[in-house]
Amino acid sequence: MKSFRKELWFNVPTRRAFINITGQVDECLRESGVRQGLALVNAMHITASVFINDDESGLHHDYEVWLEKLAPHEPVSQYRHNGYEDNADAHLKRQVMGREVVVAITDGKLDFGTWEQIFYGEFDGGRKKRVLVKIIGE
Ligand code: ZN
Repeated sequence: MKSFRKELWFNVPTRRAFINITGQVDECLRESGVRQGLALVNAMHITASVFINDDESGLHHDYEVWLEKLAPHEPVSQYRHNGYEDNADAHLKRQVMGREVVVAITDGKLDFGTWEQIFYGEFDGGRKKRVLVKIIGE
């Protein structure tokens, strides 16, 4: 069995952003040489997400509005977690949007459903963060 591991680095200048990382995961798959197997992609930070959905700007705007309704950033004093930090909302947004995705690899390709793309979701940007890509198979 082959095993491949790589960290993707991000430094998002804004507090929140959604970044399509499908191409980078695809590049990892090519490097791995795996033809049949599984790819795990997970955020290595508790204020960022990896998720799969449509690459459609309207939807990404809707996520932003929806997540701000669920866990507004302001006022930061509404959260017990805040005090030393101001990112309680980012922890909550990450929980909703998820930590990781697993994608099947079939015939050397990411075996997606229709319109599926992989995204990095940043909820507390302005610093370097990592995403782990682990690919196993043969
Ligand atoms: Zn925190």
